[in-house]
This record gives sequence, C-alpha cells and structure tokens, in this order.
Amino acid sequence: PNVVELKNINKVYGENTPNPTQVLFDLSLNFEESSFNSIIGQSGSGKSTLLNILGTLDKATSGDVVINGKKTQDLKANELSTLRNESIGFIFQFHYLLPEFTAIENVLMPFKISKKPITEEVLNRANELLDIVGLSTKKNNLANNLSGGQQQRVAIARSLINNPKIILADEPTGNLDSDTTEQVYELLREINLKFKTTFIIITHDRHIAEKADRIIEIKDGRINLDIKK
Ligand code: ADP
Ligand code: ADP
Repeated sequence: PNVVELKNINKVYGENTPNPTQVLFDLSLNFEESSFNSIIGQSGSGKSTLLNILGTLDKATSGDVVINGKKTQDLKANELSTLRNESIGFIFQFHYLLPEFTAIENVLMPFKISKKPITEEVLNRANELLDIVGLSTKKNNLANNLSGGQQQRVAIARSLINNPKIILADEPTGNLDSDTTEQVYELLREINLKFKTTFIIITHDRHIAEKADRIIEIKDGRINLDIKK
C-alpha cells in the first residue's frame, strides 16, 4: 500500500503578485510503505518545495496530498498538525538542535514542545533510539559539545521519537564529510529495515542516491526519471 500519494500537484509561488513563478507542474507520485527513496535534481529544480508539500509544511496551489489514506486538503490547521506530528518525522541539513540542552533532552523535545507527558515508555524509547544511533554514552552531553555527525544522529533519533511512518529528509548529510555521510546513510537504512519507516530523502550525492530502492529525478518541476530497483 501507499503511505503517501501526490496527485497532479502544481505549485506557484507569488500567485497574486505581478511575477508568479510556477515551480511544480502536474506532478504525481506514490510512495510505498517501508520504501527507501531518494530524490535528486539540480538546485532550483523544486525538490525542497516538493518535500515541504509532502510534509504538509507548505500547500500546493492545486492537486491532492494523501497521507496514510487521508486527504490533507480538507483538514483544518489543528488536524493537519496532529497528522504531521503522528505520521511524519523531519530531518534537515541543519539539525536545529538546541545547543544548551543534552542529547536526550533534544530527542524528547517534540514532547516538551507539545507539552505531552514524558512517560516511562517515551523515555525508554528515547534511550533505545540513542542506542540505535550509537550515542547512548553521550546522552547527557550538551548538543553543543557533540561533533557534527553526532548532532545529526541526535536529530535522527529526535525525528523518530513519535514513531512516524514517514521520514522526510532534506539534504540530511549536506553538512557532513564523506565518511560521516556514509555512516549516517547506513544508519537511516538500518532504521528503515528495523521500523519499516518510509524514507524520502533529498540528496545531491548521486553515489548515496543510488543506494536507495528508488531514485526520482526532478527537473524543472517535473519528474525526469523514476527508477525502481
Ligand atoms: P531545490 O530544492 O531543488 O533547490 P526549491 O524547491 O528550493 O528547489 O526551489 C525551486 C524554485 O522555487 C527555485 O527557483 C526557488 O528560487 C523558488 N522558490 C522556492 N521557495 C520559494 C518561495 N518561498 N518563494 C518564491 N520562490 C521560491
Ligand atoms: P535548497 O536548494 O537546499 O532547497 P535554497 O537556498 O534553494 O536551498 O532554499 C532555502 C530555503 O529558502 C527554502 O526553504 C526555500 O523554500 C526558500 N527559498 C528559496 N528560494 C526562494 C525565493 N526565491 N524566495 C523565497 N524563498 C526562497
């Protein structure tokens, strides 16, 4: 089954200005449950716009976004944020950790922010995730005192704390050296296999992209290639 469906998505920025620009053109894509996908394409081709629409962080000008079988167009803002919190984890190039908080506090941050109780179960999950990303011995270190690769691992653990079905990642290793990049990708793959999380990852690293089950190339706001292995 599909976990995300995009149907005939168009995106125009500055719709009501003298200079509207269309960046996505009638784009349709389905993503299967538990799949590991990469999105490639030149800078400015529309990858981030696509990912933001997939994650309901931005709205399409027209077309449908269906997440876990739910049409998102008709949802109210609070329903949308619930769906997002329950179903989607985000990883960005810049990890946006809070530097003065510890690794485990950062992993728990989505709960702190939404004022949800941190139960023993949640705490156990945070510890398990830090273990999976190889940072259990550093869980009480301030984020500030971790290396770039370690910080991105904390961000990965944080993206998983709500047990999302889908992880959306925008250049998650854009800021890391090539050895660390390799390790972070192996980790994402491990998580994909362990939790059956669907991954959709933007990367400009072809070598990395080719390790995915499916490579989608966006060119000028359209699908140029869609290769499934
Ligand atoms: P990519 O991620 O592939 O680099 P983007 O989705 O960031 O591409 O951008 C696609 C095009 O849309 C670019 O021409 C960019 O300048 C434009 N764009 C992106 N975001 C906005 C915005 N908020 N307002 C206006 N134009 C935007
Ligand atoms: P990337 O290529 O990694 O997506 P960009 O520099 O194109 O990075 O975009 C960074 C952010 O700025 C994105 O969130 C994008 O939506 C926004 N953005 C890009 N181009 C424009 C633009 N012309 N006007 C407003 N926002 C933009």
